[in-house]
Amino acid sequence: MSSALRREYLAALGLETWVVRGKSLSPETALPDAPAPREVPASREALASRGALVPHESLVPREDLAPPEVLAPRQVAAPPDTNALRDSTAAREAGADWPELRARVAACTRCSLCSTRTQTVFGVGNQTAEWLIVGEAPGAEEDRQGEPFVGRAGQLLNSMLRAIGLAREQVYIANVLKCRPPGNRDPSLSEAAECLPYLEQQIALLKPKIMLAVGRIASQNLLHTEVTLGRLRQQVHRFGLSQVPLVVTYHPAYLLRTPTDKRKAWEDLKFAREVCARV
Ligand code: URA
Repeated sequence: MSSALRREYLAALGLETWVVRGKSLSPETALPDAPAPREVPASREALASRGALVPHESLVPREDLAPPEVLAPRQVAAPPDTNALRDSTAAREAGADWPELRARVAACTRCSLCSTRTQTVFGVGNQTAEWLIVGEAPGAEEDRQGEPFVGRAGQLLNSMLRAIGLAREQVYIANVLKCRPPGNRDPSLSEAAECLPYLEQQIALLKPKIMLAVGRIASQNLLHTEVTLGRLRQQVHRFGLSQVPLVVTYHPAYLLRTPTDKRKAWEDLKFAREVCARV
C-alpha cells in the first residue's frame, strides 16, 4: 500500500500524525520501532479449558520483552487428549465443513437468543484468511443483514484494517455470539459457552495465523479471564488447542465514543501486524 493511501486510512481513523519516542514517524517507519511482541505462555489450565488464561502476574514488563525469535516458530499444540476432546463442547461441532457448520448455526436453538434473533450471523470473509477478527455479538444492523460489523462500528473496523494494509475481504470476521442479544446487552456466560464451540470450529476450519479480539467482551470470553482490556493489550495470548496467537484491541464502537483511544488501537494494530509477520 502506498504511504499516501495509508495516510488516508489513518486519517479516517483520526490519526493523521503520531509520535513514537519523541519523533514523528510514518506508518512504514514506525513498525521497525515497534517493541518485540511479548508472549504470554499458555498454562496447562488454559490448554485444558481451550483458552489462554492470563494471570496478572504473568504480565511481562515492557523492558523484559522476549527476543523476537520466541515468536518465530509457529507453536504446534500437543495432540488433543481424546478423553478431553470427547468431553469438549467443541467436539460437538468437530468434523463439520463450512456449509454444514453454517447450516448448524442457522438452525441453532441452544439458547434463548434463537427466539429473539431475526437471523444468525455466522461470519464473513476469506475462508483462507490469515487474520480472524472476533467481536462480541451482532448488533441491530448485523441481525438485520446477517453479516458481522456492517454498522458504523463496522465502517471503522474496515478503516482500522485498511490502516494495516488489509482489505475487509482479505480477513475473516466473526463474533463470539452468532445471535443478537436483545437491546445489545452483554452476552451471558451461558450464551457464550453454548456459542463458543461454533467459533472454535470456524477456527479449526480457517486455521488463522492470528486472531484479533476487538473489545473487552470478546477478549474476556475468548481468554476466559476477567482481566481488564487495558491489561490484556500489547501481549501475545494463545487461543485453543492450536494455540493461535491472539492480540487484543479496543472495540470500534468504543473508539467511536472515545476517539482519544484510537492512538492506542493503532499501536495494537501495528503490534498485531508484527506478531503475524513472525508466525
Ligand atoms: N459489534 C460486534 O461486536 N460485532 C458485530 O458484528 C457488530 C458490532
